[in-house]
Amino acid sequence: MANQEDIFKKVISHAKEYGYIFQSSEIYDGLSAVYDYGQNGVELKKNIREYWWQAMVQLNDNIVGIDAAIFMHPTTWKASGHVDAFNDPLIDNKDSKKRYRADVLVEDHVAKIEGKIEKEVKKAAKRFGDSFDKKQFLETNPRVLDYQAKADGILKRLGKSLENEDLADVKELIEELGIVCPISGSKNWTDVKQFNLMFGTKLGATADSAMDLYLRPETAQGIFVNFLNVQKSGRMKIPFGIAQTGKAFRNEIVARQFIFRMREFEQMEMQYFIKPGTQKEWYDTWKEKRLNWHLSLGLGEDNYRFHDHEKLAHYADAAADIEFRFPFGFKELEGIHSRTDFDLGSHEKFSNKKLQYFDPEENKSYVPYVLETSIGLDRMFLAVFSSALQEEALENNTTRTVLKLPAVLAPTKAAVLPLLKRDGLPEVAHKLMDDLKWDFNVVYDEKDAVGRRYRRQDAVGTPFCVTVDHQTLEDETVTIRHRDTMEQQRVKINEVKGIISKEVDMRYWLQRI
Ligand code: ATP
Repeated sequence: MANQEDIFKKVISHAKEYGYIFQSSEIYDGLSAVYDYGQNGVELKKNIREYWWQAMVQLNDNIVGIDAAIFMHPTTWKASGHVDAFNDPLIDNKDSKKRYRADVLVEDHVAKIEGKIEKEVKKAAKRFGDSFDKKQFLETNPRVLDYQAKADGILKRLGKSLENEDLADVKELIEELGIVCPISGSKNWTDVKQFNLMFGTKLGATADSAMDLYLRPETAQGIFVNFLNVQKSGRMKIPFGIAQTGKAFRNEIVARQFIFRMREFEQMEMQYFIKPGTQKEWYDTWKEKRLNWHLSLGLGEDNYRFHDHEKLAHYADAAADIEFRFPFGFKELEGIHSRTDFDLGSHEKFSNKKLQYFDPEENKSYVPYVLETSIGLDRMFLAVFSSALQEEALENNTTRTVLKLPAVLAPTKAAVLPLLKRDGLPEVAHKLMDDLKWDFNVVYDEKDAVGRRYRRQDAVGTPFCVTVDHQTLEDETVTIRHRDTMEQQRVKINEVKGIISKEVDMRYWLQRI
């Protein structure tokens, strides 16, 4: 089997070759950690966004959406804590001159220890066969317990020193663990320093009157500052949610890993306003709801896990990540944060405006607590795309590259293929296209042998190919080929739309949540 790095390279090159993702400004040698979505990428991204929006807004009558501006009054970022606390702890290797996030270096070290546990599990599973009880093994095997204690101990200490802003201890931890620079292999580290991640810009024409602004590093604050506008104009009653999708910007230092960590990216966030004291219950509810949303796409239950935060951000009283098995291992895909009344309370102080809700049941006003779900659209794209890309061995000893995107998210739902470029077949195919295009994105392809055309559609992720042949002229039937099974069915031409709808309609997928 190909190793992780090769698989990841394949993902990146496939995304480029099939019009999903290009490096930004590539003709000028690109801009680091900034990417453009191509003709297929834009459709996949739009479908993921829509899948999220329908699940959150359309299907919940107490959640509404907004679209706030990227520019916000600069005091927003003082109130939110981003001016003072939106920092990453950085460390440089003096030999390679490379800069790293100190916490990521430690977390990678822990991931290696966890990798050892996985290895032990695999070995034992092989040894014990069917009688293997993984849970029991993890709870009792001395070697595993030792590794786990080590990993937990390291993360706990990291969490504590970051919380106390004890950067000297973070450095000490890196030294104690003997972490080396992946490039130079040396342990010659600088001290750990904080670095603010917000991009600054200016509003106004002249130097004196210009106002310092930031590009928003998260979409959440656009929701908080509009809390009362939405609550009043929509007559919303607690609990209720406000959802938003949009661009966010962070001057990420460790900007590798393709669209996993970008400097300009898109978030899909929802802030759920609740009665103080009910946060634990809503935290559990939203963890479950969000995991179910992921599972409904069928990317594989084993590819997800929760990671509870040891180190809590300044605004949170509980936080967990939904991690996904990316080609480079389990990493954060979505965050679920219990944000207390930190944000609204802080905006009250900085703006001198009341941001409270009058609760008719309690007959009193209070600052609501907030439960947040926050997912990166681009990260979700990477999760879907990387798990969909597969090399499949076929019976005739060949392989095919197939992008098994969930049909509901696929950019193009069907390709219409006349078997030959003559005998009136293209005309029938075009007529079918004209009929289908009102409901789905469809493409027409008449070049090359039909087998080659199937392969092209497999690689780009189109779930259906509909072939028009001579028999179509006689009895109005076509063959419909399914991407994942490669099965072909002969059906009436007027049944095609219904067959495709059944597989791609969002309603069927969303009903699984
Ligand atoms: P990380 O620890 O990976 O930097 P974070 O904890 O800072 O992420 P949040 O501030 O909780 O992330 O943002 C919510 C979501 O936004 C993340 O779960 C992720 O999906 C997405 N996200 C954050 N930063 C980036 C980025 N630089 N590029 C792409 N997506 C991002």
